[in-house]
Amino acid sequence: MQTLVQKFGGTSVENIECLQRVKNKVIEAVQNNYNVVVVLSAKAGKTSRLHDLAHSLVKQPDLSELDSLLSTGEHASVALFSLILKNAGINARSLLGWQIPIITDNTFGKAKIISIDKKTINSQLKKHTVLVTAGFQGVTKDGFITTLGRGGSDTSAVAIAAALDSCPCEIYTDVNGVYTTDPNICSSARKLDHISYEEMLEMSSMGAKVLQIRSVEFAKKYNVPIHVRSTFTNNTGTFVIKESSMMEDALVSSIAYDKDQACITLYDIPHNAATASAIFTPLADHNISVDMIIQAAIRNDSTDITFTVPKKDLEQTQTIMDKLLKDVGGKSIYTKNVSKISLIGVGMRSHTGVASKAFQALQNENITIFMISTSEIKISCLIEEKYTELAVRTLHDKFGLQKGSHT
Ligand code: ADP
Ligand code: ASP
Ligand code: MG
Repeated sequence: MQTLVQKFGGTSVENIECLQRVKNKVIEAVQNNYNVVVVLSAKAGKTSRLHDLAHSLVKQPDLSELDSLLSTGEHASVALFSLILKNAGINARSLLGWQIPIITDNTFGKAKIISIDKKTINSQLKKHTVLVTAGFQGVTKDGFITTLGRGGSDTSAVAIAAALDSCPCEIYTDVNGVYTTDPNICSSARKLDHISYEEMLEMSSMGAKVLQIRSVEFAKKYNVPIHVRSTFTNNTGTFVIKESSMMEDALVSSIAYDKDQACITLYDIPHNAATASAIFTPLADHNISVDMIIQAAIRNDSTDITFTVPKKDLEQTQTIMDKLLKDVGGKSIYTKNVSKISLIGVGMRSHTGVASKAFQALQNENITIFMISTSEIKISCLIEEKYTELAVRTLHDKFGLQKGSHT
């Protein structure tokens, strides 16, 4: 019998009515002769509420305890859903991350999966038709519970599929698949039938939260076929697969945005060979990932550096930078009201003029660009957060991505 991994996100398991719908999807797969490994998220909003609760009690909660707390959202989902399946006569069993186990490193809050023991899954699959496993969570080698970062249930699902000989993985969510941009902010967004791992990686890393980036990294590395689709319809969704010559080399195939950005400018800081490493080494030591970086033009003995970090890391970054500036001198500005808009397309590799067309379109809407970064298949601009939706729609239109523009 072939195994199928089915992952259901927060809005898909929000209440009992939703869980009944999920039950029907699972039963359908069982009737199609699959052994099913279901991966569930916490119900929508639960993880954020637990996070806020901890932060309302303690300014900087211990990250290991925070992970124990956050993982309970998924814990509740799998136990409840197993009860529902059992009640429907299905031989189901729930499994938490530590019971499998899904071993991770000990970067609490954004742990990386090191290994998944497929022996337990396979032996449990011999005894049960459906396994219901908790997404988002793992366990360190020493037995402490970890979580995989926001949106991490996608990664749990794809990593389990990879461990089970790269079996197919369905990601069920609240939209019909992967679109040219977020369909919830751009009504003319077009659903894609296929997307390559490479383009999906860029989209996810640029903020398209429909798939967590690490899930796409796993899928690409282990060749796991992903089907992103809706829990609320029976429509075919989007297949995330290896790039093939059949795929169009669109100049721009999607627009992503990321509001989870905060911007830091350090100015009048001493300029010497140690400047960049003095700033970025302590951030790396604290596992803070820096995204865009600009260093201003050379002056003799001082310089300005602007960079972005995830919003949630701003406070910690500020503490680290204040300490540094106290030692070396210089001033700082911090802002949370920014977002990053990105244009993605493999066709950019071989074409010029995309950047200037995008800048022109933003200028026409009076949107100021603060920072720009590019890769082979992507251009990103940092803008004021309040212009996010306008910028996405403007660029989506400008590059002809809307419905009806392709046949
Ligand atoms: P889940 O709870 O099922 O994991 P998420 O909220 O994490 O769902 O991801 C689904 C959401 O991703 C959609 O509701 C949509 O707003 C957003 N999204 C952003 N960019 C895209 C895109 N290009 N295609 C589809 N959805 C997108
Ligand atoms: N519950 C976690 C979150 O809200 C993981 C997930 O839903 O994928 O981020
Ligand atoms: Mg998600």
